[in-house]
Amino acid sequence: MKNNVIVLSGPSGVGKGTIANLLKARTDIKVSISCTTRSPRNGEIHGKDYFFITKEEFLDKIKNDGFLEYSEHFGNYYGTPKDYVSKTLETNDVLLEIDVNGGALVKEKEPNAKLIFLAPPSEIELRNRLIKRNTESQDKIDERLSRLNYELSLKDKYDFVVINDDLEETYKIISTIINNLKGE
Ligand code: 5GP
Repeated sequence: MKNNVIVLSGPSGVGKGTIANLLKARTDIKVSISCTTRSPRNGEIHGKDYFFITKEEFLDKIKNDGFLEYSEHFGNYYGTPKDYVSKTLETNDVLLEIDVNGGALVKEKEPNAKLIFLAPPSEIELRNRLIKRNTESQDKIDERLSRLNYELSLKDKYDFVVINDDLEETYKIISTIINNLKGE
């Protein structure tokens, strides 16, 4: 049984975080903690949800080749720390919950990584979820939705596309994919 790097991507609000939390709670998979330059939202904890670092610290880490991949969106940087992933892979599968550009970048450095794209059932459903999440202003929600078509167009670069309609069903599909990969 080998350990794999699994990338879980999809448009903002599609439910990546919820699926990642279920996998974390119910399986041995470790979810990587990213670095970001954005400010913590209510309830978010440094070292648990993200490592919240300054732009200077982030740029330093780029210079020192400290990221497996990183990208900038909504004016902030997000990156996957390389050392965490390689160390964790020695004992467990590692899940990267990252944006839709991240998958292709990870595959360049980790050709064996498996990429899962989580898609919303519809744009209306995604808008409702973002409103329900209640963490952002209407402007920010509109900004995130305006990226939707671009984000959906990247799904062809992914190994698997799963539509997140029913949460438990989606969890079942994704955990089955991950289990099957261990036996490959
Ligand atoms: P949020 O600000 O809502 O936490 O995240 C915004 C987007 O950044 C989400 O799509 C999230 O998956 C993505 N993201 C989080 N961490 C990383 C990372 O390390 N690398 C990349 N490329 N995207 C990330």
